[in-house]
Amino acid sequence: MKNHYTAVIVGGGPAGSSAAHTLAKSGVDVCVVDRFLFPRPKLCGGLLTQRAKKNYAEIFGPGWDELHEYRCAGAKFFDGERLVNAIENYGELYVCDRYRFDARLIDKAKSSGAELLHGDRVTAVDTRNCVCKLRSGKEIAYRYLIGADGVNSVVANAIHNGKTSRNGKAFALEVVFPVSDLSRKVAEPEIYLSSIE
Ligand SMILES: Cc1cc2nc3c(=O)[nH]c(=O)nc-3n(C[C@H](O)[C@H](O)[C@H](O)COP(=O)(O)OP(=O)(O)OC[C@H]3O[C@@H](n4cnc5c(N)ncnc54)[C@H](O)[C@@H]3O)c2cc1C
Repeated sequence: MKNHYTAVIVGGGPAGSSAAHTLAKSGVDVCVVDRFLFPRPKLCGGLLTQRAKKNYAEIFGPGWDELHEYRCAGAKFFDGERLVNAIENYGELYVCDRYRFDARLIDKAKSSGAELLHGDRVTAVDTRNCVCKLRSGKEIAYRYLIGADGVNSVVANAIHNGKTSRNGKAFALEVVFPVSDLSRKVAEPEIYLSSIE
């Protein structure tokens, strides 16, 4: 692994792997840094629309059908127990497992020539000298930096001198359990939103 790249991408989620794949395919020397070792869990409902399918095809080409677990035509949204919206006959919606989905995308970027440095967190960005500082003590210099490091972006924070807003936080839990444990038949995704006092 080198310590200087034309492009460094912080974050190997869908945004980071899409950017990495696009750049690597064009011959750009690119490294993706992610704090977790891939494959890694990602909190998400995993519901994808046809727009995601179209974007995927434009960026990565074929292979969409290997990326989702099942298809459905609608979804229901609840406020607590109250049904507030139901999407029916939407066409096709897709449900993916982000653990597998993100790993496949990053593999595609790697196949195009992107390097992946995973299991190491970017702790600071020295924008003056174009260097990312990692928790391990490693430093990676870049010519171009892409911040794809999600909602609490270290890159955005560095660029905006620590002035990014952290207001309006929410939290979520993800629990995986077998469909057979449900007391009724659930054919389509149900999304429950609620507030906590
Ligand atoms: C509870 C919940 C449910 C959701 N459900 C849906 C849904 O059903 N459908 C949908 O389309 N979207 C859903 N989303 C939104 C979706 O998860 C995000 O829009 C999407 O993951 C954004 O992709 P991204 O690549 O920008 O960032 P992310 O997927 O967040 O990836 C960011 C990456 O950056 C890495 N990273 C972060 N900080 C650092 C650092 N300092 N150093 C190195 N690496 C770092 C992280 O490990 C991560 O791999 C949901 C989100 C939540 C929270």
